[in-house]
Amino acid sequence: MSTYESIIKELEPYNATLVAVSKTKPNQEIQKIYNLGQRDFGENRVQEMIDKHEALPKDIKWHLIGHLQSKKVKNIISFVDYIHSVDSFSLLDEIEKRAQKEERKINILLQIKIAEEDSKYGFDFNELFENLELSKYESLSINGVMGMATFTENIDQVREEFRLLKSYFNLLKEKYFYDKESFTEISMGMSGDYKIALDEGSTMVRIGSLIFGERE
Ligand SMILES: *Cc1c(COP(=O)(O)O)cnc(C)c1O
Repeated sequence: MSTYESIIKELEPYNATLVAVSKTKPNQEIQKIYNLGQRDFGENRVQEMIDKHEALPKDIKWHLIGHLQSKKVKNIISFVDYIHSVDSFSLLDEIEKRAQKEERKINILLQIKIAEEDSKYGFDFNELFENLELSKYESLSINGVMGMATFTENIDQVREEFRLLKSYFNLLKEKYFYDKESFTEISMGMSGDYKIALDEGSTMVRIGSLIFGERE
């Protein structure tokens, strides 16, 4: 069994979605995983995702997982399926505007800061919690939250951060999404920490190097 297939088996009891993170990997490598049945692929750069979308089968669902500049939203709005990395109100506004024009419903996740490092993008939870104006976003399907744990060997810390994200999800659900059946996703867990993430309630794992091999 390939690593890919064993990950798929591992995810089954959790009912979690695998986003195969194909950034920096060539199309033929992606096609191989596609041929095994994978349809959800994650990229962190806009231009790379556009090029791959053009070259590869059209039933692939493209997930943008990396930081998105507002000015680039228009370049992906016609085909992107999921944006995990929505980390500001101005970006929400821009995606809403472009989605309306395109008459597309876009799936998005609110990226929230959970790591101790400053460098990670994401909403400050309190700012998000106090100021989200849900009624502005008719063209968005806000499906949940996304977060990245601190890059550390300290498993307890990673677990605490994933728990924090889960608690943020619950608070948002209670305040804003209690009547929305689509608010179900917690995108957390990568190659190094996805087992912990699944334990803590992840519904979407974003796994790259474990499937495709280390990146250069
Ligand atoms: C690259 C990346 C991943 C996958 O990382 P791996 O360690 O290769 O599994 C997941 N999420 C985000 C946001 C990434 O940029």
